[in-house]
Amino acid sequence: MAELPFVQSKLPEVGTTIFTVMSQLAIEHNAVNLGQGFPDFPMPDELCRLVDDAMQKGFNQYTHMAGYPLLRERLAEKAAFLYGANINPDTEITVTPGGTYAIYTSLTGVLQPGDEVIVFEPAYDSYIPNIEVNGAVAVRIALEFPSYRIPWDKVKKAITARTRMIMINTPHNPTGMVLQEEDIEQLRLVVNGTNILILSDEVYEHLIYDNIPHRSMLRYPDLMQRAFVCSSFGKTYHCTGWKLGCCIAPAALMKEFRKIHQFNCFSCDTPKQVAVAEYLANRDAYLSLSAFLQQKRDYFRERMRATPFQCIPSSGSYFECYSYGHFSEEKDTDFATRLTKEYGITAIPVSAFYKNGEDNKVLRFCFAKKETTLEKAVEKLRNIA
Ligand code: PMP
Ligand code: GLN
Repeated sequence: MAELPFVQSKLPEVGTTIFTVMSQLAIEHNAVNLGQGFPDFPMPDELCRLVDDAMQKGFNQYTHMAGYPLLRERLAEKAAFLYGANINPDTEITVTPGGTYAIYTSLTGVLQPGDEVIVFEPAYDSYIPNIEVNGAVAVRIALEFPSYRIPWDKVKKAITARTRMIMINTPHNPTGMVLQEEDIEQLRLVVNGTNILILSDEVYEHLIYDNIPHRSMLRYPDLMQRAFVCSSFGKTYHCTGWKLGCCIAPAALMKEFRKIHQFNCFSCDTPKQVAVAEYLANRDAYLSLSAFLQQKRDYFRERMRATPFQCIPSSGSYFECYSYGHFSEEKDTDFATRLTKEYGITAIPVSAFYKNGEDNKVLRFCFAKKETTLEKAVEKLRNIA
């Protein structure tokens, strides 16, 4: 593409997101797409019907800038029910067009040029560009391989007078790692007595397996008072295309968040907010998710044993990572491309989640699919050598 000499890129090193690249390749080669994270099974009928009802009833104009008031009330009730958190729906919750936007807006609301943000790699691909576009500096720390746990000794050493924020993500994309109580203790030791904020990406809060509790920042009043907690209804209700989510943060942080939000998005899709507000009364819809997706993880994992891939176990999210370094030296990006083109199966190369492209020869597979899709995918992977 021709470049305009008078336009200086704000993100010169950034290309097209790996999710678009791999989904496009999957379409071109008619491959089974276990790359980008989205379900191929339907969202709840009842929730679709509630959107239709809301539109028929005339909820078709702008709603409140911070989100449909009843939805914010219901979200505060949910946070109290699940995590014992006391959240003010007027001042501490904003409904957003998705989790990615909530993350961007949190960062943009508080970061000053030169601020340092600690970010763990592999990192969801929007984090580092979102930090850098604000003139801040991403201080990257690699999760330990292959456990993908946080090396807290390295975090402690990375703290400086400029550290403004630590970004955490539990359950973690792409690895499915989840924070344990020791991690919370370590996080406390790092932030106590400092001005460091926390951005907690919890879009997979309801997709956590093996009876492990989700360690939301909303459970810990001392951590919550310095945290932006970002969520996505797309993940909870199997409708990633809705692009609807929310952010919860203390009033002082939310005030800054809303200054950005009001001039960027202003307010989100009204009928969907009305519908979700209603649907939240159905607690089983989100409480049953862990069992539903754990079964898919196990189904996929079990079948993957018949392939040469080695499982790096996931405890949450839509994803499980598999390594192949014991049978191929190929770069993960090349390997993933070849899998799509030659074998008709698409996965995400995990090096895409490292700024320097660190390649541990690991692919991420999305198991939030119908069993027939998973079966088809594994059938193709069996032939790989
Ligand atoms: N964070 C993580 C870790 C994710 O995997 C996703 C995936 N979509 C998001 C944020 C963003 O969610 P949304 O689609 O609601 O923007
Ligand atoms: N969160 C999804 C994933 O990790 C994709 C979101 C997107 O395409 N931006 O696959």
